[in-house]
Amino acid sequence: MDAISFPAVPDMVRDFGFYIDGNWRTAGDRKTMVRSSPAVGKDVSRIALCTKADVDEAVAVARAAFSSRSWSGITGKERANVLLRAARLIRENLEELALWETLEAGKPISQSRAEIGDAAGHYEYCAGLAQTLSGESFNTHGDDMFGVVTRQPIGVVGLINPWNFPFIVLAERVPYILASGNSLVVKPSEMTSATTLLFADMLKEAGLPDGVYNVVTGTGPDVGQAIAEHMDIDMISFTGSTRTGEAILKASTSNFKKASLELGGKNPQIVFADADLDDAADGVAFGLCLNAGQCCVSGSRLIVEESIADDFRDRVIDKLSKVKVGDCFDPETQIGAIVSEQHRDKILSYVKLGVEEGATLAYGGDSVTVGEGRFIAPTLLTGVRNDMRVAREEIFGPVLSLITFKTAQEALEIANDSSYGLGASIWTKDIDKALRMMRGVHAGRTWVNTTIAGGPGQPLGGFKQSGIGREGGKMGVEEYTEVKSVHIAIGKRSPWVR
Ligand code: NDP
Repeated sequence: MDAISFPAVPDMVRDFGFYIDGNWRTAGDRKTMVRSSPAVGKDVSRIALCTKADVDEAVAVARAAFSSRSWSGITGKERANVLLRAARLIRENLEELALWETLEAGKPISQSRAEIGDAAGHYEYCAGLAQTLSGESFNTHGDDMFGVVTRQPIGVVGLINPWNFPFIVLAERVPYILASGNSLVVKPSEMTSATTLLFADMLKEAGLPDGVYNVVTGTGPDVGQAIAEHMDIDMISFTGSTRTGEAILKASTSNFKKASLELGGKNPQIVFADADLDDAADGVAFGLCLNAGQCCVSGSRLIVEESIADDFRDRVIDKLSKVKVGDCFDPETQIGAIVSEQHRDKILSYVKLGVEEGATLAYGGDSVTVGEGRFIAPTLLTGVRNDMRVAREEIFGPVLSLITFKTAQEALEIANDSSYGLGASIWTKDIDKALRMMRGVHAGRTWVNTTIAGGPGQPLGGFKQSGIGREGGKMGVEEYTEVKSVHIAIGKRSPWVR
């Protein structure tokens, strides 16, 4: 392959401090961590490894901001204006944010640009919800009583995010947290902290009061754990692996803080013989390759009706062979880099394991070197059974396991035979079959004749070990509120003591 130049890569490692109370802090005598870009194999950024004392300070500041009412006490319209200005600033800074997303996460630049644009849409959407958040009233308690159910911000939220979609996952949480008036302390993944930090200046310029958005950087076991178990955080919102989610849930019992968990998936793509097979093959390729398969809703289990399995396998291989892998700064690239060498090795070890378990490597299965970057070709394993580890465990790479079925009932049983329940896609032109499958499948997000589609309006979340709670949509704002049930007496009390 030809050598590729990356003109946008900064010459020097950029030092990011961390951000508390509207001010930047330098690492000082704290340890630091340097991020080597998976896309270009060069050191690009350095973050501070914050301490528990830093977390305590950030939480105290967030609490003080919440209590001051500088954000929680203003009108929904005023909050909406800040969110709209934040959206505009995201769009104005789209190229810089996209550059850092590509450098740190290894995404193709066109994908980074699209994600930053989509992120702005969440702030715009939440500007509406900030003004329309409401409760219920009960005029049914008779002449002497009136009932109201109100929602109020929960207080201080701890937000712990993963590396695979740093800015879009942030956008699926932050405006929803801010809409009702909460304050927050964010910990991005140690590998992809840049865009979460850069955004702090945009929120300040947009008019967010100091202390409402605070960013502490560092590792999960130190900074993340300190947030999860903190006694003065009212709610934890975590997105990441199911294993870490379990640790978060345990830590959250320190003060029984509310926990919202968005976790992993092993998402079925169910293809019936009566589907538009070309559309389905294209959708399967997209669902596998998006973000190099490092995607919670990656369609990694391909469950195909036996009568068309060979034909469909060939269609998928044809699509995969045309997917562009490599140079993250080429706008045509569709599969970018794998986030770390360790993760690349883990993905490749799963391919080997699949073959050892009896599957056939029908396409791909190897790493691709482009410049100094690390990539994996899209990979198809056929002859997979649902009890094999490659069908049960989240590989988090572009590795697809093909399993066959004979009846719709069998397809549903295979799809639901998983500890996960995040996403599912159903491909058929039979409306009755589509609706029955949609109802039966255990997945928080279900697509019919498409995959990984969506926007801010509809909630995201998982069944079973894929999570607790919902992000996005109206529910996404309500999730970060407390519900208060109020009874108001009218007129003179009928005495109890006579
Ligand atoms: P991890 O669970 O490894 O990490 C997620 C975050 O948690 C990181 O910021 C990490 O810090 C932090 N963390 C790690 N250990 C602890 C701990 N003991 N206490 C507190 N925080 C901790 O996930 P990945 O970053 O590897 O992300 C991939 C996973 O995320 C996949 O399973 C994927 O399915 C899931 N995901 C789910 C989504 C959904 O909406 N359901 C969306 C996107 C991803 P650090 O890494 O800095 O050490």
